[in-house]
Amino acid sequence: MKILVINAGSSSLKYQLIDIDNKKVLAKGLCERIGIEGSNLQHTCVEKGLDKIKIEKPMNDHGDAIQMVIDALIDPEHGVISSMDEIGAVGHRVVHGAEEFTDSCIITEAVMKALQKCTPLAPLHNPPNIIGIEACKKIMPNTPMVGVFDTAFHQTMPPKAFMYALPYEYYEKEGIRKYGFHGTSHKYVSQKAAEYLGGDPEKLKIVTCHLGNGSSISAVNGGKCVDTSMGFTPLDGVPMGTRTGSMDPAVVTYLINKGMSAQEVDNLMNKKSGVAGVSGVSSDFRDLTAASKEGNKRAQLALDMFTYQVKKYIGSYAAAMGGIDAVVFTAGVGENDAATRKAIVSGLEFMGIKIDDEKNNARGTTDISADDATVKTLVIPTDEEMMIAIDTKRLVEGK
Ligand code: ADP
Repeated sequence: MKILVINAGSSSLKYQLIDIDNKKVLAKGLCERIGIEGSNLQHTCVEKGLDKIKIEKPMNDHGDAIQMVIDALIDPEHGVISSMDEIGAVGHRVVHGAEEFTDSCIITEAVMKALQKCTPLAPLHNPPNIIGIEACKKIMPNTPMVGVFDTAFHQTMPPKAFMYALPYEYYEKEGIRKYGFHGTSHKYVSQKAAEYLGGDPEKLKIVTCHLGNGSSISAVNGGKCVDTSMGFTPLDGVPMGTRTGSMDPAVVTYLINKGMSAQEVDNLMNKKSGVAGVSGVSSDFRDLTAASKEGNKRAQLALDMFTYQVKKYIGSYAAAMGGIDAVVFTAGVGENDAATRKAIVSGLEFMGIKIDDEKNNARGTTDISADDATVKTLVIPTDEEMMIAIDTKRLVEGK
């Protein structure tokens, strides 16, 4: 079965066509500047090994974008299918599924209504996701569609992990609680880790570290998420590229009382903070490492703050699960930055976590544990699109 995976943003739309039976990406691309002057589609036919092409054409809305994607997929030269009918199903990434969605699901009218209900919790992300689904449904009315939620994997967290100690009615009436994000990635790499390690996945206690521009850490016990570092929004947890991560919430009221508007504080915490704000250098870990090597103390401080917090999450999640069998690193920093991985795990030898410096320099899916480590440390490249396609197939086949 060929599955089209769609990730719709407000003015962009990413896509992959995946042959799910042999887990191969056939084509992929991106529509940019939808509804803005200069709209273009960048398409790569992976199957034929062709170079990326860029087609500049006005796209007024997401419907135009999806039509251009389909035209590219059936194009005689750069396409990979002869007609739209070859697409067996479409999997849509949806950021927020709140408590409505504990798993991926087939999109029905009732699901569309429930999606609207989740929108206040993700006002910037869910509306474009919904517009993407509606545009696809119009163009492909007979193709099954599946929604895959960033929050769903975390819905197995127990109340003691997801509740905030606000008066209970703030949870009941406002839905204020920890939801967690990057769930599709945590699910994918924890499943891959269980496959890689063999044994009974029900018995494995894994800490998955998705470290990219946005970062989150999850505790996965027996295949189920029991805790995660992001919260009500993706601002919580460890310091990130430009986000603060956790801090005393009284800082917010302090700044507002000093005269900043709520919007300004929101902007400060989401866009100007994190390792970029502390270092004054960059949100990119490559720039921070380079600056630190040249003696920039604040760049080193930002890196130290990041690795210290990730280390603390690993320790606390081992405590929460009553043990740990594996630590998994994934995403831009987790997959590529050996020095940051090393800094995170150093000092955790007492828990049996120890990496081999040579293995730590390898690429791709790899076991970087030292021979005498009792806890495995793995690097597993994440693949959210593949996870969406896997779930889409499962749902369409009624499993
Ligand atoms: P996003 O969270 O936007 O999906 P990614 O997971 O792609 O981001 O991670 C992007 C980040 O990964 C970059 O900002 C950069 O800090 C980091 N990164 C990518 N490659 C490397 C590398 N070779 N060494 C260190 N950091 C890297």
